[in-house]
This record gives sequence, C-alpha cells and structure tokens, in this order.
Amino acid sequence: MDKHTPTPWTYVSSVPAEGYECFWIKAQPSPVMRGFTKEIGAVNGPINDETEANAALIVRAVNSHASLLSTIKELMEALERVVEVYRRDNPMRTADVHYRDCKCLRCQIDHAAAAHDTALSRAKSLMEQKP
Ligand SMILES: [Zn+2]
Repeated sequence: MDKHTPTPWTYVSSVPAEGYECFWIKAQPSPVMRGFTKEIGAVNGPINDETEANAALIVRAVNSHASLLSTIKELMEALERVVEVYRRDNPMRTADVHYRDCKCLRCQIDHAAAAHDTALSRAKSLMEQKP
C-alpha cells in the first residue's frame, strides 16, 4: 500500500505567464537527487489565499500522516496499559452502584476504554483505507 512517492512533499506557485495558474504539489523522491522534484499534482487556480491554503493543507496532511499514525498507536498502547492495570487492581464489585452519568474513576476508565475501542477501529480503518 505504501507505494506513494516518499515524503516530504511541498507546493510551489506556477507562473501564470506560462499558461497555468495553480499550485504544483511536488516531492523530492530521494535526498540523493538534490534539486530534482517529482510532480504529484496541482491545486487549480486562481492563485489566491484559499487555493494556497488548500495546497498547504494537502502537503501538511501528507507530510504528517505517518507521524500522526504512529502517535495514535503510541497513545492507544499507553491507554491500553492504563486500562489493563486499573481493571486488574480495581475489580468491579457486585455491590458497587453506578449510574449512567457516574463520575467515579472506574466509570471514567470504562468510558475511556470504550472510546479507545471506537477510536482504535476508526484508526485501523483509516490506516487500511484505499483511495
Ligand atoms: Zn461509577
């Protein structure tokens, strides 16, 4: 799946006098190939703040993608450890009474664990998503 052109990507403005008004999205496939850039695509003009912001957003999203995925994975693993240790050290007792909006630590941990499961499925789905 990771057969895309390596990051980092960047964007540059076209020269309208040359016939195109857009922002080119480019990549430098290899640091060895200094100065060589590979064209990825274009954000069509007119050249203005909005189209530049669109090009910048695409580039930032692509360049941060791998880092964001690994950060999510680290956070998920940390949360899993917290939930596991808390549940081990604080087993639910049948005499405990918890209401729907209970604010006790046990219930907050359970909410976090449920949110974690939902977020983990979403993250896995995003990581496996094909264009
Ligand atoms: Zn509770």
